[in-house]
Parts: sequence; C-alpha cells; structure tokens
Amino acid sequence: MTDHLFAAEAEIVKRAAGLPGAIAADLAVFGGVLRCGACKRERPVGDIVSHLSHGWPKCCGKTMTWVTGRQVAAEAEGEEA
Ligand SMILES: [Zn+2]
Repeated sequence: MTDHLFAAEAEIVKRAAGLPGAIAADLAVFGGVLRCGACKRERPVGDIVSHLSHGWPKCCGKTMTWVTGRQVAAEAEGEEA
C-alpha cells in the first residue's frame, strides 16, 4: 500500500507550511525599518510573514530596502561622530 507515502508527503507539506513562520521569527530578530531609496521615507518592518507571502512593501514603485536595527544604530553613531 501507499499509506506510508501519503504520510511522508503530509509531513513534508506540514513542514513547508511552517517554514515561512520560522524564517520570519529568525528575521524579526534583526528589527529595524523599511526605507525607500527614492524618497527616503521609512516605515516599521511590520509583519514579515505577510511581506514574504504577499510581497515585500514598495514605495515610489520600488521595493523598499530593509535597514536592520544594527544598521540604523550604526547610522545614528555616524551622524553623532
Ligand atoms: Zn518613496
């Protein structure tokens, strides 16, 4: 019978379905903001899971750049120096 094959397939689908959430949880650690390269507008990174599944946020017709919390901190230090 092929019952074991269906079981294996179901397991793979289950793991794949959980993957974006796992990735997003890892990525969320970076924090930071999304920045438009054209108008320099910034917005919170927000729901990364949603971005990955529905498309990355855009501004001025361009995909926004993710500036991580570390990069934001580095920029702030650069301005102070
Ligand atoms: Zn813009």
